[in-house]
Amino acid sequence: KCHDELVRLKGNIRVFCRVRPVSQEELNISEARNIVTFDPDDYAILHLANKGKLMTFELDKVFPPEASQEQVFQEIQSLVTSCIDGYNVCIFAYGQTGSGKTYTMEGVMDDPGINQRALQLLFTEVSERAPDWEYHITVSMVEIYNEMLRNLLGDNPSEKLDIKMCPDSRGQLYVPGLAEFPVQSVEDINKVLDLGHMNRATACTNLNEHSSRSHALLIATIAGVNVSTGHRTSGKLNLVDLAGSERIGRSGAEGSRLREAQCINKSLAALGDVIHALRARLAHVPFRNSRLTYLLQDSLSGDSKTLMMVQVSPLDINVNETVCSLKFAQRVR
Ligand code: ADP
Ligand code: MG
Repeated sequence: KCHDELVRLKGNIRVFCRVRPVSQEELNISEARNIVTFDPDDYAILHLANKGKLMTFELDKVFPPEASQEQVFQEIQSLVTSCIDGYNVCIFAYGQTGSGKTYTMEGVMDDPGINQRALQLLFTEVSERAPDWEYHITVSMVEIYNEMLRNLLGDNPSEKLDIKMCPDSRGQLYVPGLAEFPVQSVEDINKVLDLGHMNRATACTNLNEHSSRSHALLIATIAGVNVSTGHRTSGKLNLVDLAGSERIGRSGAEGSRLREAQCINKSLAALGDVIHALRARLAHVPFRNSRLTYLLQDSLSGDSKTLMMVQVSPLDINVNETVCSLKFAQRVR
């Protein structure tokens, strides 16, 4: 009831901010100063000391550096499980390279992030639902690089995919040839995540560099059928590790670097424009301005739910990018 009330008041878009901790290496750099502070009485406020000026940002929730993967996941659990009831959900990690996007989404070996926790939760939830409901979960993984789609679970991961309009349905989009991996056990979850990760890595020479220039999407589809009534539901969970938001390309990038930068800037700007238009209930929502927003059109519009996790560094050396990211957060909120 409380949740429904919130949705009615605020719409379906939430913006959270996660501040990553200072690394050991950074602690050794004496000039690197922490400039982020939190409001002890308000978990949605963040203060930033920007070159002598104190800036204040209001979000829907702020996670300080000490917030654990578990604590972050607790705050988004109900969003994840709403897919079982037929909602389409998007969770984005936004921020400059090194701000913790991949840590939040993929996590690390002993401490998984949202991707693994979400699939696990979906799997256990559906197996505990009423016995007359049967559910089928499938997972796809897609990378968007230079406005091209790569099929990360396909037999040939460098194969390019296209987004098409279903001829028979009302404007529904689909991706012909997109590999779908059925999840029938908890073991399948790690199998599929490992396969996607491996395929992404083999198609490039430096995964870190490449992943900061491309978007990685994990798309889980949950189809339910009630075996006694025949009633059906279908929901989708889109988990997106976005390309780095830093403004590369302004300082003399050329050739392929310039093209990469233009594609990233274009698609992140398109994402901001789409969420802003949905939030402001504008008549025209420019989904078609990038592959990312076009692919996610069905999961961003209607009664879909969106969470933008804006990742920031706590240090003064990153302050310009941090301000840009928080301004992006304010615009879509
Ligand atoms: P991005 O994907 O935005 O480029 P990463 O997720 O790779 O950034 O994070 C950069 C580094 O900081 C990695 O070594 C990562 O493990 C570490 N890191 C990020 N966020 C956290 C966190 N909340 N706790 C511990 N380490 C983190
Ligand atoms: Mg990353």
